[in-house]
Amino acid sequence: MGITNHAQNFAPPLQDSEGKSNLIGLSYEELAEALAALGLEKFRTKQVWSWIYHHGVTDFAQMLTLAKPVRDKLAENFTLARPVIAQDQKSEDGTRKWLVKMLDGQEVECVHIPESDRGALCVSSQVGCTLTCRFCHTGTQRLVRNLEASEIVMQIMLARDALKEWPSGKEDRLLSNIVMMGMGEPLYNFENVAKALRIVMHGEGIAISKRKITLSTSGVVPMIKRCGEELDVGLAISLHAVTDELRDQIVPINRKYPIKELLQACRDYPGVSNSRRITFEYVMLKGINDSPVDAKHLVRLLRGIPAKINLIPFNAWPGSPFECSDWGTIEKFGDILNAEGYASPIRTPRGRDIMAACGQLKSASIRLSAAERASIDAIIKEKEQAQNLI
Ligand code: SAH
Ligand code: SF4
Repeated sequence: MGITNHAQNFAPPLQDSEGKSNLIGLSYEELAEALAALGLEKFRTKQVWSWIYHHGVTDFAQMLTLAKPVRDKLAENFTLARPVIAQDQKSEDGTRKWLVKMLDGQEVECVHIPESDRGALCVSSQVGCTLTCRFCHTGTQRLVRNLEASEIVMQIMLARDALKEWPSGKEDRLLSNIVMMGMGEPLYNFENVAKALRIVMHGEGIAISKRKITLSTSGVVPMIKRCGEELDVGLAISLHAVTDELRDQIVPINRKYPIKELLQACRDYPGVSNSRRITFEYVMLKGINDSPVDAKHLVRLLRGIPAKINLIPFNAWPGSPFECSDWGTIEKFGDILNAEGYASPIRTPRGRDIMAACGQLKSASIRLSAAERASIDAIIKEKEQAQNLI
């Protein structure tokens, strides 16, 4: 199987075994059309939308503002079924990771990171990733497909089910923020990600505002502008290196879109300002990108861009080729950035014990065997060839 620039889109079945299609993942307009096709009045859309996304019901019988014949009609034609949770792991620090099995059997991971008064859900956009950043476990997963919008929305709904956070709109939500930082490159699946996020942001449903959503990209430059114009969500850039020479090696999409072009796209990001900074993620790799010279170079590169820098201690995975920088080195790096006026928090690794930390996600059912681990370079080469990166 070849891997194209954008993931293979062998679309998953959209209907269940009884031939019923799922209403989750339809845009508001599509839902209106689906209901109209059943002969339901227009005002029903608002009610059904609210039952699905505000109340989170999983059964049409629970839609109490609808007359019984209407509920029956909906149940005959549609479903609200969630994907199966194939695994539910809880870290000693409270981080929780779900392995979500889609209708076609493909699996993605989704992680909830609780904090005292809020919490973020790290959502996946693809099964695996076509890209091959050297420090990232997802990048070693061979099988890749885009997730449908419904499959992206359902990760959030599943988490809300598990956290018992229906209906929407409660104060102090455990799931208050969304970060598109799970498996996959969201800007290589923009249409589905955008559709899903529009559903999630809709004020009469899940209602998580654009201010609480961050999309992280390894640098798909041509899509960054659209992301800002159409979604206006927070942007995070996986920078990780300050020279093209190094970034070409560890974040190979750099060979297509080098640092200068990437940073220009950041300068031009619609809505960027001092109150809405771009986050630059920088994974700390021992002896590779963590010297004081790198830190100073980083400051120079980001000059003029409203930015905050997130230093991420490298999270190791079985067979990973790097080590995490020493704590003192990370602090020294951070001090240089702080002295230049950059907020540069060091991200506390969460959920390491359950392989839920940044860059450790990979469908549990296809963890690398020892033999495959030995051929990791072959996998990466195959994927890079398919991407025309080499
Ligand atoms: N594909 C997107 C989003 C998912 S990765 C992107 O690359 O931005 C989310 C973040 O985790 C990225 O900044 C990524 O570079 C970082 N990451 C990947 N592997 C990591 C690892 N092993 N340790 C720490 N961070 C890692
Ligand atoms: Fe893909 Fe992001 Fe991992 Fe790179 S860091 S391989 S873009 S998921």
